[in-house]
Amino acid sequence: MLEVNGLSAWYGAAQALFGVSLSVGPGELVVLEGLNGAGKSTLLRSIIGLGPQVRGVLLFQGQALAHLPAHTRARLGLGYVPEDRRLFADLTVLENLLVAQRTAATGAAPTAAQQLEQVVVLFPALKSMLKRRALEMSGGEQQMLSIARTLMTSPAMLLLDEPCEGIAPVLVESIVEALLLLKRQGMAMLVAEQNALLAAHADRVITLVAGQTGAYLTP
Ligand code: ATP
Repeated sequence: MLEVNGLSAWYGAAQALFGVSLSVGPGELVVLEGLNGAGKSTLLRSIIGLGPQVRGVLLFQGQALAHLPAHTRARLGLGYVPEDRRLFADLTVLENLLVAQRTAATGAAPTAAQQLEQVVVLFPALKSMLKRRALEMSGGEQQMLSIARTLMTSPAMLLLDEPCEGIAPVLVESIVEALLLLKRQGMAMLVAEQNALLAAHADRVITLVAGQTGAYLTP
C-alpha cells in the first residue's frame, strides 16, 4: 500500500533522513520508534508532502508521490494526524469535524452523518462534546478530535505522529483502543511513537536511529 525506498531528506543543507526504506501493507499497523530527533516526524511529513526536500521512492497504492502536493496526496487517501493537532480552536467539535468532511476517493461514498456516526463510535467521548469549542478541550480530547477529524476525510491509510504523547493515561487508553479498533476494521497505519504503547500490537516495529532505519522487529 505504502512503499518508501531509499528516502533521504534535507532541511536546507542539514540531512535528516538517510536512505530510509519501509513498507505498510493493507490493514497493517507499522510502528516507527526512535529517540527525539531521530527523524520520525520528518519521515511522516515527507510522506504527506509537508516536510523537507526529499529524494528517493515514495509510492502509495502504486502511485508515485514525490512530485505531488500535500493536498493531492491527502485526496489519494493519505490521512495525516500531526503532533501539534492543528485544530480550529474557535470552532466547535462538530464544526471541526464537518469542515474536514470529504468522501472517499474510491468506493461507495458515505454521507457526512454516516461518517460522523462512525467517528463517535470510535471516540464515544466526543459525542457529548459536539458543541464544545476545541480550545475548551483537554489535550487528550483534542487529540481524539484531531484523529476523528482526519477520519472525516475518508482516508485509506493513517499517518499518526505521537498520538499518545503528553496525554492523561485514561485518555491514552481510549486512543489506543480506538486505533486498535480501526486496525480491526482494516485501516492501514504508520504510527510514530516513543512510548511503545502500540508496538505490542504492531505488524512491524521500525526503529529510526539518527535518520536511518535501525532494525525491523516483529513482535
Ligand atoms: P521528535 O519526537 O522530537 O519530534 P523526531 O524523531 O520526530 O523527534 P524530527 O523532528 O523528524 O525527529 O527531527 C529530525 C532531525 O531534523 C533533527 O535533527 C531535527 O533537529 C531536524 N529538523 C526537524 N525539523 C526541522 C526544521 N523544520 N528545520 C531544520 N531542521 C529540522
